[in-house]
Amino acid sequence: MARKIAAGNWKMNGVEADLVQVDALAEAVAAASCDVLLCPPATLIAPMAARAGLMDLYVGGQSCHAAASGAHTGDISAGMLADAGATHVIVGHSERRADHGETNEDVAAQVTAAIDAGLIAIICVGETEAERDAEVTLNVVASQLAGSIPTGALPAHIVVAYEPVWAIGTGRTPTLEQIAEVHDHIRSELAARRGGAANDIPLLYGGSVKPGNAVEIFAVSNVDGALVGGASLKASDFGGIIAAL
Ligand code: 13P
Repeated sequence: MARKIAAGNWKMNGVEADLVQVDALAEAVAAASCDVLLCPPATLIAPMAARAGLMDLYVGGQSCHAAASGAHTGDISAGMLADAGATHVIVGHSERRADHGETNEDVAAQVTAAIDAGLIAIICVGETEAERDAEVTLNVVASQLAGSIPTGALPAHIVVAYEPVWAIGTGRTPTLEQIAEVHDHIRSELAARRGGAANDIPLLYGGSVKPGNAVEIFAVSNVDGALVGGASLKASDFGGIIAAL
């Protein structure tokens, strides 16, 4: 059985004053029966990690470069994230794939860099609305998985997040049957390469998760938690999601 994870992705939101939201999560984290992770902008990793150390909260990055160091202005390496206090990093988010042209190959190289730096890589996959309408969702997700996960990556070092692009920040979610179909498919695709060890890889659902829909989503087959955007910014919302898991 994979561990359960409630992960928050703050995206490009938050300044130091917003870290009060982390303090306000203390009770929810203490009562949690899952791992709890927040991925703030890189500027907040170190101060968030300092607060997270007072409770059982993990802190992660939102992206990392594939190289360990060098002439890559504006980029951050996995080792730097780890040095700042991160234990995880999100890679291959659809916003990175769209805004920065990151390919499956780029994502796979970032996963390798993350694992080499001792981080757990949260690898994002998911179809666009046009792909869902064209009924190619399962093929798209399977090819993202095949291309984005290095073959040697051990289950303990990776998490997969299924985030349909059209459900991100829109308030729309797939039906529970659609989520189950994709998560079951991801599990079987992972099992085809890794056998029973695939059961140890947490599969997160992401896209408009809120306290009001978390309970039913977490009850879906092969859903081991959530990657939450907007609703992770406020402790009251994220605390409700943590409690649902
Ligand atoms: P929302 O929860 O805001 O839809 O964002 C989901 C997401 O992209 C998390 O990585």
